[in-house]
Amino acid sequence: MQLLDGAKVASEILDSIKIKIKKYEKKIGFAIIWVGDNEASSIYVKNKLKKCEELGIDGKLYHLEENTTEEEVLNLIKKLNNDDNVNGIILQSPVPKHIDIKKCFNLISPLKDIDGFSSVSVGNLSLGVPSFVSCTPKGIIKLLDYYHIPLKGKNVVIINRSNIVGKPLFNLLIARDATVTMCHSKTENLEYFTKNADILISAVGIPKFITEDMVKDEAVVIDVGINRVDGKVCGDVDFASVSKKASYITPVPKGVGPMTIAMIFENLMETIK
Ligand code: NAP
Repeated sequence: MQLLDGAKVASEILDSIKIKIKKYEKKIGFAIIWVGDNEASSIYVKNKLKKCEELGIDGKLYHLEENTTEEEVLNLIKKLNNDDNVNGIILQSPVPKHIDIKKCFNLISPLKDIDGFSSVSVGNLSLGVPSFVSCTPKGIIKLLDYYHIPLKGKNVVIINRSNIVGKPLFNLLIARDATVTMCHSKTENLEYFTKNADILISAVGIPKFITEDMVKDEAVVIDVGINRVDGKVCGDVDFASVSKKASYITPVPKGVGPMTIAMIFENLMETIK
């Protein structure tokens, strides 16, 4: 078994981004909009700002109160769209219930949509038109490519159908000639699919959801899940047993997570091409 070391690959990607940024004369602007006080968001936002600082990027946080109206958020997005010093904009999810997040994502200029969540970016991806690709799916493909894991003709099973993970990943994989099956909570006989997967990608959000008996010998196992058990972060995969059967496997933490962050900055760099 070989570990798919997302932390190492992400750090190499960020190092090369840092070199490119040093050569670039103008400051690169990254605007983060965060509405409310969601605890997990506070960690994600802080991490992104810290990375901006390390990379020499002008990261700006627009932290709005929980009771901010949808109109105020939309107005801020319009302002940032028109600001030449802002290259990329992200709206941290989740937002308070009274705000329609899809409406907000769709107002972010497709030229600054570095999370790839707007309808234009999603539509372009499904049509095979170059555009921003959401970061977790993009990071997974990068990681597989880094380790020269072939995708063409392979039987790939994704357990997730969300807009941020499963759907974009499906599009990226079929564009690379994989045969893709997308499973979800209503899938009957899930094991039938997982046992036949050359590459199994789990993004369910349940600890130890993927057990050894669900995995084919020598399969590549990608664990996207982020769960907490007794204060410790773990994925969806029962790592101790599944790692004995898999040919390649991602750890959690230090697998897909760091790749997701690296892809935000890779997308940001695409705004200056
Ligand atoms: P989500 O929208 O809740 O998606 C979970 C998916 O799992 C859904 O498609 C759901 O099916 C499916 N599912 C739930 N229970 C199942 C079961 N018993 N059998 C089969 N499928 C089942 O969550 P998400 O935002 O996509 O995130 C999923 C996980 O990935 C979370 O743990 C999240 O923290 C993690 N994540 C990690 C990263 C990273 O960078 N590492 C990035 C994003 C997300 P239905 O559609 O039928 O409900």
